[in-house]
Amino acid sequence: MADRSVDHLLIGGFAAGHCAKKLREEGAEGSILLVAREADAPYERPPLSKEYLRGDAAREDALVVPAGWWEENDVELLTRTSAMKLDLEARSVKLSTKEEVGFDKLLIATGANVRRLRVDGSDLEGIHYLRAFGNADAIREDIAGCERIVLIGGSYIGAEVAASLTELGKRCTILMQEETVLERSFGPEVGRFFRGVLEDHGVVVRGGDELGSFEGEDGRVASVISGSGERIECDCVVIGAGVMPDVMLAKAAGLEIGESGGVLASKSLESSAPGVFVAGDMAEFDSVVHGRSLRKEHWDVARGHGETAALAMLGRDSAHDDVPYFFSDLADWVSLEYVGDGSGDGVIRGSLEDGEFSVFYLDDGGRLSAALSVGRSDDLEHARRMIRAGATPSREALADPSADLAEL
Ligand SMILES: Cc1cc2nc3c(=O)[nH]c(=O)nc-3n(C[C@H](O)[C@H](O)[C@H](O)COP(=O)(O)OP(=O)(O)OC[C@H]3O[C@@H](n4cnc5c(N)ncnc54)[C@H](O)[C@@H]3O)c2cc1C
Repeated sequence: MADRSVDHLLIGGFAAGHCAKKLREEGAEGSILLVAREADAPYERPPLSKEYLRGDAAREDALVVPAGWWEENDVELLTRTSAMKLDLEARSVKLSTKEEVGFDKLLIATGANVRRLRVDGSDLEGIHYLRAFGNADAIREDIAGCERIVLIGGSYIGAEVAASLTELGKRCTILMQEETVLERSFGPEVGRFFRGVLEDHGVVVRGGDELGSFEGEDGRVASVISGSGERIECDCVVIGAGVMPDVMLAKAAGLEIGESGGVLASKSLESSAPGVFVAGDMAEFDSVVHGRSLRKEHWDVARGHGETAALAMLGRDSAHDDVPYFFSDLADWVSLEYVGDGSGDGVIRGSLEDGEFSVFYLDDGGRLSAALSVGRSDDLEHARRMIRAGATPSREALADPSADLAEL
């Protein structure tokens, strides 16, 4: 027997917070309880590798809603509390406080966990991962007395943290398997552009190699030994080796898992159990736009999912039909925006040399599946429209800056 019941039980952080907000904005009158494992109220993570890490933004700036919102809107927020067990038959969740809460509608948005690299020396002090406020605080505190930082991994976290810490006066080296940063997402040519930006600002980029082990002095990391045997001396390490969806709670309850390891969800984010919704990094959703299942680790997708799930919980017609959107900033050196779902060698419009370009990614059937933009945001509006319409624009026209994208 549940100790009590609520109309809407939300488990998670960022996406769950947006779900709570949308529920009240849409006039939901029932009780809402948000259960969050972290000590902080729901917050967005992008600042953690950018302005917050550099000390240019306060913690409050990252909150999904201001601190007073919860009480004002009669939404109960239980931080430092984990959902331990979901019983689909009883429609209840056991919390770490031992309380058992029944629900009418449930949202699970448990996010993702960092992928940990286990090599010799990985327990040494001074080796960090970055996912939560606590990690960003620990990095900031730890680097105060450090000069040389090694970033393991050449994707967003590695590149963004290298840029932020360089701005703080640190000497940063990126060690990665790819030849160029962000190559896995955008292909080698565009990757060389971003690598060039980092190198122009003093970041050393070592591609085509990997982490072998760590060596320490007095219990603290002192060097990284690469797979090829190179030694990189350092005072601190930050690892950005990807994340894995956190589906522990959902999987144990028997919810269906998709190919990407996320929880399978419909277009309205409903899982295989009626009335149980999922959102954000752990959701593998049926994409209206792309016509197949996607799992995204994008801020905007998680926000949109939270809102879509809220509408679905209220019984509204709510297929999630946003074109996926992602952004990344390397300090204030360069910003990129990306829409859709696709990668590889795309069609370039504009000039990589001038740092103002877009890249259009076409799938095997010639359909526009994704686009990246640096300094040409307007192109992304056209890309969004074409992706939605399943358009097959000509490569020549995409590459020709004088061709009007509105006519494609
Ligand atoms: C450093 C960093 C920088 C980023 N920068 C960008 C960017 O520039 N652009 C971009 O588009 N995206 C960026 N992202 C990705 C973006 O932040 C994520 O896609 C987004 O946070 C996903 O939201 P979510 O709600 O799914 O997961 P989360 O924000 O991870 O929230 C899930 C929460 O659920 C909690 N939880 C897990 N299990 C339980 C449980 N059993 N009970 C209770 N609570 C539980 C977790 O502790 C966590 O707090 C960045 C991510 C990081 C880490």
